[in-house]
Amino acid sequence: MIREILQNQEILLNIKNLTLNFNTDRGEITALDGIELRLYKNESLGLVGETGCGKSVTALSIMRLIPVPPGKIGQGEILFDGKDLLKIPETEMRRTRGGKISMIFQEPSTSLNPVFKVGDQILEAVQLHQRVDKMTAKNKAVQMLERVGMPDPKDIINRYPHELSGGMQQRIMIAMALSSNPKLLIADEPTTALDVTTQAQILDLINELKKDIISSMLLITHDLGIVAEICDRVAVMYTGNIIEQAGLRALFKTPLHPYTQGLLNAIPNMNAPKGELGFIPGTIPDLTKLPQGCKFNPRCPQQMEICLKKRPGLREVREDHFVACHLYSK
Ligand code: SF4
Repeated sequence: MIREILQNQEILLNIKNLTLNFNTDRGEITALDGIELRLYKNESLGLVGETGCGKSVTALSIMRLIPVPPGKIGQGEILFDGKDLLKIPETEMRRTRGGKISMIFQEPSTSLNPVFKVGDQILEAVQLHQRVDKMTAKNKAVQMLERVGMPDPKDIINRYPHELSGGMQQRIMIAMALSSNPKLLIADEPTTALDVTTQAQILDLINELKKDIISSMLLITHDLGIVAEICDRVAVMYTGNIIEQAGLRALFKTPLHPYTQGLLNAIPNMNAPKGELGFIPGTIPDLTKLPQGCKFNPRCPQQMEICLKKRPGLREVREDHFVACHLYSK
């Protein structure tokens, strides 16, 4: 179990033993299998892993946006600022969602309402979470657009989403998400849908906003390069579990889990002999047919006998470095 306090840092988000199941046509699957995750105040935590490992459903669980059914939280706690988000009434959760915790998604065009001008949408977000009159809200909307680097914000507020590029739409989404001064920003693959140049601009913007407006952030991505640029700590997910969590430097310098080692080896490296690119053999297992023992065992180059029988739990093996792997069992 992860320690309660690390180096006097205060915990903002503490997910304990969270389990989430879905009923599907092919039977019940476990999307989150007792995850343990913590995020400290004023830090950016990267949540990485391959598609389908449970990153986005973790974010949606925090926001309490998992549709029930087919989803069902089996057990666990999501402690945010000391309160269990799974236990607070829906009215309080509505104030928390978009107020204390904001989220930006991968595809900004599907998050913006196509029939309203972007200014009205930001205005609505401001008025929903702050008790201010319309003029103050409008001024705040213009200010936020300036802050996210939009040229000519007074003109932009009168435009419809389809009149803006993908990069501009994502800047609008960031402005809306931050307009309520949230304690936590969840960014779910915020640059994946954008072209490479725009991706770099949005990443620069997020880094810039981290200096003053973004206090704490959970950044979901499959791209370790983005994590290296933006995050302070990293959690790696595999088939519904956190399998390694550490500070950025420790994770990149001394990755402990064979899966994390494989992910890092797969990053293109100009200095690799003959330009070779590492890869992880096999594919993510079908969640309805998970292997016994460690779920990574069919793909693991360091598999041992115990790995076929017993599933390893997440434990701290170095200071603030947690791993779920029998290689590090005492
Ligand atoms: Fe590999 Fe065993 Fe560690 Fe799983 S527990 S990652 S199979 S060594």
